[in-house]
Amino acid sequence: MVQKLNDFLEENINYLKDNGLYNEIDSIEGANGPEIAIKGKTYINLSSNNYLGLATDEDLKTAAKNAIDSHGVGAGAVRSINGTLDLHDELEQTLAEFKGTEAAIAYQSGFNCNMAAISAVMNKNDAILSDELNHASIIDGCRLSKAKIIRVNHSDMDDLRQKAKEAVESGQYNKVMYITDGVFSMDGDVAKLPEIVEICEPLGIMIYVDDAHGSGVMGKGAGTVKHFGLQDKVDFQIGTLSKAIGVVGGYVAGSQQLIDWLKAQSRPFLFSTSLAPGDTKAITEAVKKLMASTELHDQLWDNANYLKDGLKNLGFNIGESETPITPVIIGDEKKTQEFSKRLMDEGVYVKSIVFPTVPRGTGRVRNMPTAAHTKEMLDQALEVYERVGKELNVIE
Ligand SMILES: *Cc1c(COP(=O)(O)O)cnc(C)c1O
Repeated sequence: MVQKLNDFLEENINYLKDNGLYNEIDSIEGANGPEIAIKGKTYINLSSNNYLGLATDEDLKTAAKNAIDSHGVGAGAVRSINGTLDLHDELEQTLAEFKGTEAAIAYQSGFNCNMAAISAVMNKNDAILSDELNHASIIDGCRLSKAKIIRVNHSDMDDLRQKAKEAVESGQYNKVMYITDGVFSMDGDVAKLPEIVEICEPLGIMIYVDDAHGSGVMGKGAGTVKHFGLQDKVDFQIGTLSKAIGVVGGYVAGSQQLIDWLKAQSRPFLFSTSLAPGDTKAITEAVKKLMASTELHDQLWDNANYLKDGLKNLGFNIGESETPITPVIIGDEKKTQEFSKRLMDEGVYVKSIVFPTVPRGTGRVRNMPTAAHTKEMLDQALEVYERVGKELNVIE
């Protein structure tokens, strides 16, 4: 190895390790379901984004296998050359129907959507107002566009109103866009979309909502935008196919013209091979399932409310979440890590999240209940929470 590289890696990895920032990655033996096995031991899994349990759904597995039989394992090319399969067209029509838009475009990941869509529309003559807690892929997508980035305090509508007005009235920018997560992943709070529309619409500001954690969860499954009935007011609806949908990939839903432009211009669409046939068919099956029935969605909320009530009754601080995302806020970083480790010793897999992912002094373990958990699993988890919480003096 080149000495400079060696020095760089050693110094920086040691820094992370010395500061408790180095994440040892566990390998899961078998499927990522409501229970998981790691090094031969079984855990109740409260750390996945597999909200509806679809990652191991039998109908999706069958759909994927059948598509592999009929279409093979790879798409063979980028979409614009000859990697667009009939399965991709079917998926995009289904996604547009799901989101209540004219059209949709699928990408290889949610991360890719933000790389693709923001920079296809925004450039150095434009400005983007961006909530300070937006996901990393939004931040990177904004940077890639070279537009002026204006940070807005988290869900602070007065701050948005003022900065939006300033940006438009300055006359400095050609286009202005506001970008927000639909559901914020660390606290589980929901973007104030009705107020956002009220502020942005009269000023001619485009609205871009990344609903990665809202789809399948909010709006009877259709997402946060549908929850507020604002499909006609939001220009870009971004989603992932890897969380509630259970597979992999992402999409942008919007007007036919917007989707035509993204197909003509967005770089991850033009220069990266499309979703594999098995994944594509499994995703379509998942979205159709969500449109046909709210059963999994209802089960998710049942379980989430059960877990939240249980944790609250035990005396834990579970923040102000409006969604199934359930933080248990411990505060001190070291104590948070110890708490998570003790939960794991006792068979509950919940990851700690500390600074710099969340502000200093707000360390938490983040619970992600799913539709696939049984009441017995949740009871067992609550029993462990009670024991470990008392042991570490987090609760009385
Ligand atoms: C998880 C997430 C993504 C990334 O989605 P992937 O499909 O996993 O790449 C993008 N945006 C937000 C807001 C997310 O929470």
